Amino acid sequence: MHFFKRARIRYILHRHAIAHDMWRQATEEIAVFQGLSAVEKAHLRELATLFLHQKTLVGVQGLDLTEAMRVVIAALACLPILGLGIDCLEGWSEVIVYPTAFRVRRDETDAAGVVHHQEHALCGESWSRGPLILSWDEIEQDLRKAPSGRNVVIHEIAHKLDMLNGPADGYPPLHHGMSVSAWSTALSSAYQQLVRRIDHHHRPCIDPYAAESPAEFFAVVSEYFFCAPDLLQSQFAAVYEQLCRYYRQNPLLRTARDFT
Ligand code: ZN
Repeated sequence: MHFFKRARIRYILHRHAIAHDMWRQATEEIAVFQGLSAVEKAHLRELATLFLHQKTLVGVQGLDLTEAMRVVIAALACLPILGLGIDCLEGWSEVIVYPTAFRVRRDETDAAGVVHHQEHALCGESWSRGPLILSWDEIEQDLRKAPSGRNVVIHEIAHKLDMLNGPADGYPPLHHGMSVSAWSTALSSAYQQLVRRIDHHHRPCIDPYAAESPAEFFAVVSEYFFCAPDLLQSQFAAVYEQLCRYYRQNPLLRTARDFT
C-alpha cells in the first residue's frame, strides 16, 4: 500500500476510532460477532471506523440513523471483508437506509420487445458503482431472530464484492492460488442441485431465493457462511470450503469457540 495512504489510514484510526463504549454497546449482543477472537474484533472495529469515514450513511423517509445504528451497519458490512481489506469496498460512497422495505419501479423489456412496468418491494439492493440500499427493519429482524442464516447487509456486500470484476454473476475476483475450476464446479453444482430441488417441489435446504440466479446464490450462501456456517457446511461442503478460501475466514471455528 502506498505510504501516504497508509499514513492517512493510521491518522483516521487514531483520530476517528469508534469509541470503545459505543462499539461494545452496538455489537456485543449480535450473535454473528460472538465467536470472533479479540484480535478479529479489534480489526473489525478498525475496518468499521474506516467504513464510517469513507461512506456517507443516510436515513431516508424519516429514519433517524443513530450512532449505534451506523456502527451496527458498518460492523456487519465489514465482517465479510475482515480478511480482504477495506479497499474491496472502494468505488462507491453512499449507504441509503430506509425504515422498512422499499418499493422500486422499473421498466423491463421482454423477449418480444414489450416493456413491462414492474414494482417490487425490496429490503436491500446494491449497484455496481452506486449506493448500497438497506432497510433498517430488515437488519433488525436478522439480528433478533435466532441464527437464521440471513443477513441483508452481508448479502448486499457480497454483491458489491461480486461486482468488482464486472456484472454480478457469482464469480468475484478470486485470489492468487485459488482454482477457478474448483470455484465454478463447487458453486454451479450446488446451485443446480438447489434449482432441481425447487423444481421437484422438495423443501430447499437454504433460502430458495438463492435459486434466482448464480449472483443471488453467491450472496445467499455468503449470508449462511457467516450466520449459519454449520448449515452451509453440512449441505454444501465444497461451497463452504471455497468461501473459506475466498473470504479468508473460517466461521465454523467461531461457532466452536462460542461453546467453549
Ligand atoms: Zn441479492
